[in-house]
Amino acid sequence: MQLPYSEPYRIKMVEPIYKSTMEQRKQWIKEAHYNLFNLKSDQVYIDLLTDSGTGAMSDRQWAEIMLGDESYAGSRSFQKLEAAVKDITGYRFFIPTHQGRAAENVLFSAMVKEGDIIPGNSHFDTTKGHIEFRKGTAIDCTIDEAFDTDLYHPFKGNIDLKKLKKVFDENPIEKIPFAVLTVTCNTAGGQPVSMQNIKEVSALCKSYGVPLYFDAARYAENCYFIKEREAAYKDKSIKDIAAELFSYGDGMTMSAKKDGLVNMGGFIALNDEEVYRTAITFNIMYEGFITYGGMSGRAMGALAVGLYEALDYDYLASRITQVQYLGEKMAEFGVPVQKPIGGHAVYLDANKFVPTIPREEYRAQALAVELYIVAGVRGVEIGTILADRDPVTRENRYPELELVRLAIPRRTYTHNHMEYLAAALHRIYDTRNEAKNGYRIVWEAPIMRHFTVKLEKIE
Ligand SMILES: *Cc1c(COP(=O)(O)O)cnc(C)c1O
Repeated sequence: MQLPYSEPYRIKMVEPIYKSTMEQRKQWIKEAHYNLFNLKSDQVYIDLLTDSGTGAMSDRQWAEIMLGDESYAGSRSFQKLEAAVKDITGYRFFIPTHQGRAAENVLFSAMVKEGDIIPGNSHFDTTKGHIEFRKGTAIDCTIDEAFDTDLYHPFKGNIDLKKLKKVFDENPIEKIPFAVLTVTCNTAGGQPVSMQNIKEVSALCKSYGVPLYFDAARYAENCYFIKEREAAYKDKSIKDIAAELFSYGDGMTMSAKKDGLVNMGGFIALNDEEVYRTAITFNIMYEGFITYGGMSGRAMGALAVGLYEALDYDYLASRITQVQYLGEKMAEFGVPVQKPIGGHAVYLDANKFVPTIPREEYRAQALAVELYIVAGVRGVEIGTILADRDPVTRENRYPELELVRLAIPRRTYTHNHMEYLAAALHRIYDTRNEAKNGYRIVWEAPIMRHFTVKLEKIE
């Protein structure tokens, strides 16, 4: 008999979180204009806004904090991190940055020009932002199966090779500075890319002379899915799988706030010496000297340890099983969730959950607010408010899916928290037909409105 999963760590320090009353929460969310970004963290019981930089560090990482060498140049902490990155990725050059988007900013400053085209699976929003800021175009070549939430496919992050080839064939190849593979694919719901697909994408890119870069924020979680779902990798270690994955590319950007298991940090690793030379100049301008790039020595030391901890099979199994457990438990209660459950979050399907609330009244936001009021849980709307207005007509853009994302921080919440979350959703689901009214916007910013929007409840 197989024993159930359990965490490969025990707790040596706790951070109290406040269990407020429903009356308090009704007051607080009203004062926050029904925008969950406006809440103080003390007003939240379980915070699932993001899994980025919100995880717990280990005792060994905290020990590195004490060992941090804060020398401006050539610190021991930098050397530790550089050795870890080169050992894990196999790339020749390493550039530290303060977080993932900073790595994109530095690398793309060296590689992306006006009119360039960067194909990939669904680009993350900061990646796309940094491409479009430079007047380039990001082209999404993800397989069609990824967009059907009811369909099971083990690797919904895969690239459709025909779509990619079409981009290569129909554009001047010198306009394509590189292709980008996001592992796991955040935008598609934390869905993994198979090694088979990575290998084929790499071969196609090589045949056209186009470099391939990874957006590697959740590469360790991707490698876990490869081990679990791709027969040839069943007996390989996560570290070996990661080494093979990186060997098919020319470089990577990393948000260490995800699979680096730290609260802040990022880096670039790559093989091309010319790109490296150009990029370090931008790094010095934007981030800091090349041996710290916006990170303190202690932060680099903690990251060097975190990178290895994130490759531990038992850690990954407990992390991903926890997310799957939450998703499956909710599905058992009938709660509509996006399938298959990805690596880092559960997505509630608000179109199926609260069809009684009109779309013009922001039904996914209404569901996220209800979850906060009932249970003190903070998720995030990925629906009409986030989709913003059409830049020309200024009308609301209605995306195909209205989702509430519940992102699970790493090593932070217990199994009982998952039970609590599932029970809270169960309760809301049972009373869903009573939900008739949503919200109206009373103030919004001209761009990126979701962070600061003010809403009013429609009575
Ligand atoms: C988080 C993330 C980024 C950006 O990283 P930050 O550390 O938040 O700046 C880029 N790509 C992916 C896939 C991410 O998940």
